[in-house]
Amino acid sequence: MSGCIFCRIVAGTAPATKVYEDDTLLAFLDIRPITRGHTLVIPKWHATDLDELTPALGARLFTLGHRLAKAVRRSDLGADAANLVINDGKAAFQTVGHVHLHVVPRRNGDILTFAKGFVLRRPHDREVTAAAIRAGLDRLAAEEKETSA
Ligand code: 5GP
Ligand code: ZN
Repeated sequence: MSGCIFCRIVAGTAPATKVYEDDTLLAFLDIRPITRGHTLVIPKWHATDLDELTPALGARLFTLGHRLAKAVRRSDLGADAANLVINDGKAAFQTVGHVHLHVVPRRNGDILTFAKGFVLRRPHDREVTAAAIRAGLDRLAAEEKETSA
């Protein structure tokens, strides 16, 4: 959908700091992060809201969100936890009409930083942050390989 900012990011005609990409999904840093490493996971095909998303893509979307929640714990961001949120529909505060799953890294006792981040929404060093999450995904994959061996 040409008027959709997230479709333009998928098409490469709008910039984004990518964290992960495969045939069906893209994960990139939120331009106005609540915490460092705040990532959005989207399907590559336009679906305005969950009503338009197939169950199969919804499952993939959550699977990647789940991996990112595990990856940030293993990353140098030092996350202890994560909020995974979908604002589904305008009444639920959805502001971009292309389904997205927020993965918001959290740290123990971060309530004041979180509250400040929620108000200020200032970006951090994007490249370093994205590289840290990618390294967390690599650590997760290595751990999984070890446990399955
Ligand atoms: P919503 O309120 O729809 O759940 O969240 C939309 C999110 O998309 C917001 O957190 C906002 O900062 C983010 N966002 C909006 N436009 C852009 C953009 O052009 N690039 C990126 N990376 N994030 C965006
Ligand atoms: Zn779109």
